[in-house]
Order: sequence, then C-alpha cells, then structure tokens
Amino acid sequence: MKIGFNQATTMKYSTLEKDLAACEKYGYDFIEIRFDKLKDYLKKNSIEDLAGYFQHSRIKPCTFNALEFITFRNEEDDARMKADLEFLCKTGNQIGCDTIIVVPTFDIKNTRKEIIQHTAAVLNDYADTAAKYGMRLAFEFVGYPNCSVNTLDLTNEVIAKANRKEVGFVFDCFHFHAMNSTWDALNNVDISKLFILHMDDSEDLVPGILRDDNRLWPGEGCIDLSRILQTLKNKGYDDIASLELFRPEYWEMDIDQVISLGYEKTKGLLKKFDLV
Ligand code: ZN
Repeated sequence: MKIGFNQATTMKYSTLEKDLAACEKYGYDFIEIRFDKLKDYLKKNSIEDLAGYFQHSRIKPCTFNALEFITFRNEEDDARMKADLEFLCKTGNQIGCDTIIVVPTFDIKNTRKEIIQHTAAVLNDYADTAAKYGMRLAFEFVGYPNCSVNTLDLTNEVIAKANRKEVGFVFDCFHFHAMNSTWDALNNVDISKLFILHMDDSEDLVPGILRDDNRLWPGEGCIDLSRILQTLKNKGYDDIASLELFRPEYWEMDIDQVISLGYEKTKGLLKKFDLV
C-alpha cells in the first residue's frame, strides 16, 4: 500500500504549505487536502502555485477532505454545496487530485429506507458533475450515533443503491469501530468501491460514546486493526492507507514530529502484515 497523510492530524496549527513540506521530507506518498486548509492557502497563493508544487514533488494529492453534510439540505444550501463541488472538481483537474470525500448529514429523523434512497440519489446527482471532470466521490460514513449513515453495513447498501462508477466509499477504521459496524459488512464490501483507507486507532470507550478526539496512533488502541488489514488484503485492497487523527494532544505537538512519527507508526503497522 501507499502511505497518505490527512491534514486533520495536524489541523489546529498547521498549514497546507507546512504539511506538504514535512510529508515530502518524511516519505509520505499522498496527502489528503482539507478544504478549509486549501481555502487558507488560496488567500496568499494560486491554484497554479499548488499545481506547480505537485509537478516537482514526490508527494501527490489523493483526496479533498471534504464536502460535509451533503444530504437532506434545503435548496439554498444544496446550491452552495454544488458550487463547492464544481470548484473542487476544477481544482482537482488542475492539481492532479481525482477524489472528493463526501460526508452524510447528522440529526435527521428519516427511516432507514428513506436514508438509503435519498443518499444514493444525492450521490448520483453529485456524480453527474464529478463525471464531467473525471472525478470520483468517496462517501465517508461517520461512526457517531446521530449521523444519518453511521455503519459500514448501511454504507454498503447506499453504495449498492447508488450503483455508479464514480461513487465509492472511505473505510475509516475508527468509524468502523465506533458504532459497531459488523465484520460481515467488511467481508461483504465491494472492494472495487473502496477508494481510500483511513488509518487510526481508538481509546477503549463504549460504542456510541466515542468521538474523533478519542483517536490514537495506529496500533496503540483497541481496534482490531490486524483483522481489518488482513481482511482488506485478502479482498485485494492495495491502494492508499492514510493517517487521519483528530487528537488534541497530537495537535499540540511539534508538526514535524507528528508527521514523522505518524509515518513510522503507519508504516510499521502495514509492514507487520506485508502491506508495504
Ligand atoms: Zn476518515
């Protein structure tokens, strides 16, 4: 597998420029660019600057993270979101990034059936735009009790219903663990639809209580990463494993140290399973 870095890991104090420099220095293959960090970058730089950087760097962009809460929106919000989608598609074409992560909405009261139908319809609508630019959408379920799609089980149903070549999903080990997604769901994933793997671990709290700030370095928590990685390997996944942590105490550490340590820990774990 290739090793990626998600900017959430250094979110509080870093910038796109700093993350890129450190990721290039410590050996990462890919970066997942946070949309807010991209907007900050563009206050002082141009998309051409970023495209120029990637032309001469080892590290490449792999996703934009993320268009959030894409479902169950009113018309006005939906139009704003579609403008962001169009912008990220154009930017992706310019800098060589072909995937946008999209996240479902929280705190809605619809039935399971309505959620599947509506989410698949929105993904198809967004995919019409993405397809014009040769872009893909990676749907990321969130393992919080109040997220409209909060398990891999439900995600599998949404992805099957969307049934669209531009639409796949993110497998985030933390989100898989956090709401008790089943091993059956993992065994049943359509591996061709897995666009990116988010690497992390978790404190041992009861499902439904866990939040992103409970994430730990891969290999230092309670998630059965061994079983996850073996299963993905057996199913033929051999793409990007990207470190994504949101832990406040890691944000307080030196940025270079977090990025170099994250690389060592991610690579060390993947090595154990002959994945790098
Ligand atoms: Zn994630």
